[in-house]
Amino acid sequence: MQSQVIVLGGGVAGISLARTLINDHNVTDILLLEARPELGGRAYTETLVNNATGAVTTVEKGCNWIQGPGKEPILELADKWGLQTARTNYSDSAWWYDHFLDEQEQAVFTEGYDNFIEHAPGYSDLSVRVATSIMDWIPVTPVQKAYEYWNIDFTFAQPPEDCSFANAFGQEAGIENEVDDFVIDQRGFKYIFVQEAKELFGQDLNDPRLHLDTTVRQIDYSGDQIVVRTDKGDFSAPHVVSTFSVGVLQHQDVQFKPQLPDWKKEAIFTFAMATYQKIFILFDRKFWNDEQAEAMGVLRKMYDDVPEPLDIVVPRWHADPLFRGSYSNWPLGVLEEHHANLGQPVKKGDAWIHFAGEATSYEMFGYVNGAWDSGISTANAIGQCINKGDCPDAKIYDALKTCPQESSMRRRDGAPRAPRRHHRGPRGGK
Ligand SMILES: Cc1cc2nc3c(=O)[nH]c(=O)nc-3n(C[C@H](O)[C@H](O)[C@H](O)COP(=O)(O)OP(=O)(O)OC[C@H]3O[C@@H](n4cnc5c(N)ncnc54)[C@H](O)[C@@H]3O)c2cc1C
Repeated sequence: MQSQVIVLGGGVAGISLARTLINDHNVTDILLLEARPELGGRAYTETLVNNATGAVTTVEKGCNWIQGPGKEPILELADKWGLQTARTNYSDSAWWYDHFLDEQEQAVFTEGYDNFIEHAPGYSDLSVRVATSIMDWIPVTPVQKAYEYWNIDFTFAQPPEDCSFANAFGQEAGIENEVDDFVIDQRGFKYIFVQEAKELFGQDLNDPRLHLDTTVRQIDYSGDQIVVRTDKGDFSAPHVVSTFSVGVLQHQDVQFKPQLPDWKKEAIFTFAMATYQKIFILFDRKFWNDEQAEAMGVLRKMYDDVPEPLDIVVPRWHADPLFRGSYSNWPLGVLEEHHANLGQPVKKGDAWIHFAGEATSYEMFGYVNGAWDSGISTANAIGQCINKGDCPDAKIYDALKTCPQESSMRRRDGAPRAPRRHHRGPRGGK
């Protein structure tokens, strides 16, 4: 089957791509291929079932908060579709502890960032571990270690040794401790994206341009057209867009023929796909205080009489060949040029393989917002190429051999000064 554009993946990025191509560029000759029987990708609801009563509870296996930089378009969609949310901030999270750090100790951590960034020009990128050590945060006691875990591992889904201070932590540090919107809608976070897709592909999603249950095996760009080989047959187009996670690309779950060029492989393999794990447990009755809630092990330490759970969901994001992790994170040693290459298309004659998805967003990687935005900007580039002949002339940094000499210890453009807490908000966590 032949079309003008093939969108690979029906997550947030794939849906925003299709929407922008059709609505803003009148590029309607498209196909969207998705391996799962439903749309939404990591906007992924799971159900817990009470077998005794048949009652079903929806939980967010993936994204749950509308948060982070550039979240306004997602808030607009939530408003448009009446998505039910609850306002939360960091201090709303339930904690169980006997003691915590006093304010002075916390200040070493939270204010150290500001001081460090002011006084550290000249450093190249450092791991969060090294940078926080220089700012005199060296956790020794279990409480200090827990506090650090809460601030770093919990948010980035990676330890401080792996995170880039300038590009992961530094970026997040610029975000105020703002109020976020936690999705509590039983239709799921995905609802707003699926509704958008229904405006394109019909209420029953039975438009022939949408192919669910279709797993991509290979992207063959050895000829004039790009051929996408799937378990349901071959599809070809001059523009093919991968919105697969960087984890899927790293695991080579989808083969490229020929192999991708070095500059692209370097970009794919330098970025990190982290795993953020949630656990959901359904009980037949509430036996905890409102102030306290944790997983089974903690519950059993806290309460003598913990009933048997009715249902448990433990997502295995890293093992899932359609995701290979939960969200991307910027590791130490990745230059901005590497990241730019991650989003650049691979050109072959008059055909292009484009790359979108959350990891390709410079300001919003890791977030739903980044996925949505990457879909729009990639669709704009394709629309311009098809309608105006102004086609992407990829700005590629050839395989990078050296680190830049100037410091990368700086705030991201537009990041507010004087952050008091660096957080992505609980993503659960994030
Ligand atoms: C546990 C967890 C918590 C998170 N919390 C938050 C949060 O609170 N707030 C926030 O903003 N973000 C959060 N995120 C991140 C957010 O969910 C993602 O950034 C976003 O959903 C990614 O969208 P995407 O379209 O780029 O990628 P995906 O959603 O991964 O879309 C890619 C699509 O490609 C499909 N696919 C993969 N391989 C193939 C194949 N071979 N053939 C065909 N189709 C294929 C997949 O099924 C998927 O539908 C969280 C993520 C997770 C997992």
